[in-house]
Amino acid sequence: MDEKQQADALNAALAEEIPEIKAPPATSIELLRGVFNKETNSWESTAYVRELNGFDEEALAALDNQNVVYAEYMSVLLKRAVVSIGSFSVKDDPTIIDNLIIGDRDLLFLKIVEVTYGVNRQYQVSCGSCKAMNDIVVPMNEFENREVAHDPHMPLEATLSDGTKVRMRLPNGLDSQVVAKKAKSTAEQNTLMLARCVEFPVMANPQQWAKELGMKDRNELVRILMESQPGPEVGEVNAQCATCGLDLNIVLDWASLLFG
Ligand SMILES: [Zn+2]
Repeated sequence: MDEKQQADALNAALAEEIPEIKAPPATSIELLRGVFNKETNSWESTAYVRELNGFDEEALAALDNQNVVYAEYMSVLLKRAVVSIGSFSVKDDPTIIDNLIIGDRDLLFLKIVEVTYGVNRQYQVSCGSCKAMNDIVVPMNEFENREVAHDPHMPLEATLSDGTKVRMRLPNGLDSQVVAKKAKSTAEQNTLMLARCVEFPVMANPQQWAKELGMKDRNELVRILMESQPGPEVGEVNAQCATCGLDLNIVLDWASLLFG
């Protein structure tokens, strides 16, 4: 143990002995896939994040009027507040954030919100029926993960109608940014996403290939790309009105999580 580890162990022991003092949330999180280390030929998945501060708030606010798409905004946020993933420092190589699968980015985002505001985020919701105000507490670490059969460490495999085998990788943050910026329709989004994610067969012009595919094959490949992405499902939260007992539906998005 070095000095820092000893100090951390001591602090942890002290925190355990004094239950009335709430320990801040741990700053590490296990990712679903993580980053591949070519030197050790292995996946590294323990990430560390830090809380957002005033510098971050100003940097994010500066993006507001710049026509920035969601995936870009998220990249700026993650590149600031994710400290490291495995042995990789984000400061030294910010591109590791762009190469993370979307599920891992969502997990990191929720962890940053948790470290910044505490694990329980509180929302004021008025009841649609009796109009009473309710304080709803939403734990940031209890969003359900999508049930995905695919192992995120493995490539995606599919067979086209003519028997051709196709291998793809899961979409990452950079794919989302490029697609959101360049594509003007869902069809263009699908073309770009397929062209970026196909790894086999290797071809000179994957966009041409994606357009030449039959629509049935295209739909099937896009479905595989979307349905194989693991990650937390952020969306509806169900609660009951404290006054009349009726169900309250709260729809959360990244902005309400970040700014409340
Ligand atoms: Zn009510």
